Amino acid sequence: MKDFVFKMPTKVYFGNGAVKNLGNICREYGASKCFVISGPNVAATPAMDAVKAALDQPGLSYEIYTKVKPDPTIEMVDAAADVMKSGKADIVIALGGGSPIDLAKAAAMLMTNEGSVREYLFGGSRTVTNLPLPLIAIPTTAGTGSEVTAASVIADTENNIKLSVTHEYLIPKAAVIDPSLHTGMPTMITASTGFDALTHAIESYVSLNAGPISDAMGIYAIRLIADNLRTAVADGNNIEARANMAVASLLGGVAFLNGGLGVIHGIAQSMGGLHNTPHGIANGVLLPYGMERNCVGNLKKFRDIAVVLGEDVECMTLREAAFASVDAVLALQEDTNMPNSLKELNIGKKDFPDIIERTMKFRLMPMNPCKLTEDDVEGILNRAYEGRKKDR
Ligand code: NAD
Repeated sequence: MKDFVFKMPTKVYFGNGAVKNLGNICREYGASKCFVISGPNVAATPAMDAVKAALDQPGLSYEIYTKVKPDPTIEMVDAAADVMKSGKADIVIALGGGSPIDLAKAAAMLMTNEGSVREYLFGGSRTVTNLPLPLIAIPTTAGTGSEVTAASVIADTENNIKLSVTHEYLIPKAAVIDPSLHTGMPTMITASTGFDALTHAIESYVSLNAGPISDAMGIYAIRLIADNLRTAVADGNNIEARANMAVASLLGGVAFLNGGLGVIHGIAQSMGGLHNTPHGIANGVLLPYGMERNCVGNLKKFRDIAVVLGEDVECMTLREAAFASVDAVLALQEDTNMPNSLKELNIGKKDFPDIIERTMKFRLMPMNPCKLTEDDVEGILNRAYEGRKKDR
């Protein structure tokens, strides 16, 4: 076994109604003034009322900022940080999907580190040196795992690219995971964020950087998704399915915080910068085709994935069983009404050269189980362009 380091610094508070304890959790961190970051849609749901009630109860003062849009930009982060600076908050609370959580990570970092977030993005001129304000993340989607990861993904709209600030200091201090906040999530967001979690779990499980603890988390996350995503999409009020998906997302996040990701995320992030393709949709469309290319890199692990996804591999060779994992993902796409091809997303072949160039520069590409060339990435894109359904 290889040497490994494992990190999971976030304290997790999980349960239906867990958000009711938010005030006490803030007190644990010595907070007196909270800065709550969210987006306009989530701010209009009962989740925001629950946050306010929980902060009112111990008499904490707070300021609410609800200007976050999906795929936050450099300008949005800098603007939120400016507002936060004038308010003297000592703790940050992020309520929403990956977008408000990522913005909150970067804005909390700018409270103690000078400059614009632009300077801290991958390849930028500054690195994070001071501890940010403490952050408590309350996810309302089940997919990104951002509540436990070190990354804050930010769009640079001048250069049409999504990059991340990645530093251990950005990992939230606490995650409050309350599945009752997830029941109002629309069907397509449920499906696409579920595929985001599945992609984290699969890519980290087969990554060259995988270790025994990230493996345990990744494979269990895949099992939870196989057993619960269809139900969460079919019946959003099924609280057990929501709870299991929320845990799968959390485990996928810890798995990739430690194990890393690969080509599917490289392409999805490149498409997100160029075309604003929602991250979960991009991952969901690309996942089977990226897996198909990567299977030969680790047949045994792809066979494990096929098994937890419910494929009967008993009479198959190792190679057949590994490739059965791809069929299982195609079936899950179909059953959750996910788009299946880049054509459906209006991504044209003329965009491929740009996507390929950016994918090859993705910081986690070296962890992909097979060393890929530009031609390999083009092959994945060509297959994903046409898409295919699983033969029933
Ligand atoms: P999101 O936060 O962008 O939200 C998508 C939409 O869903 C928004 O309109 C939002 O208002 C709505 N929504 C969220 N929760 C809802 C609820 N409970 N009920 C009703 N509507 C709800 O979506 P996301 O997929 O969670 O996050 C995507 C972002 O996260 C992307 O920018 C992606 O790059 C980033 N990301 C970050 C990491 C990380 O580790 N930091 C990992 C994966 C993805």
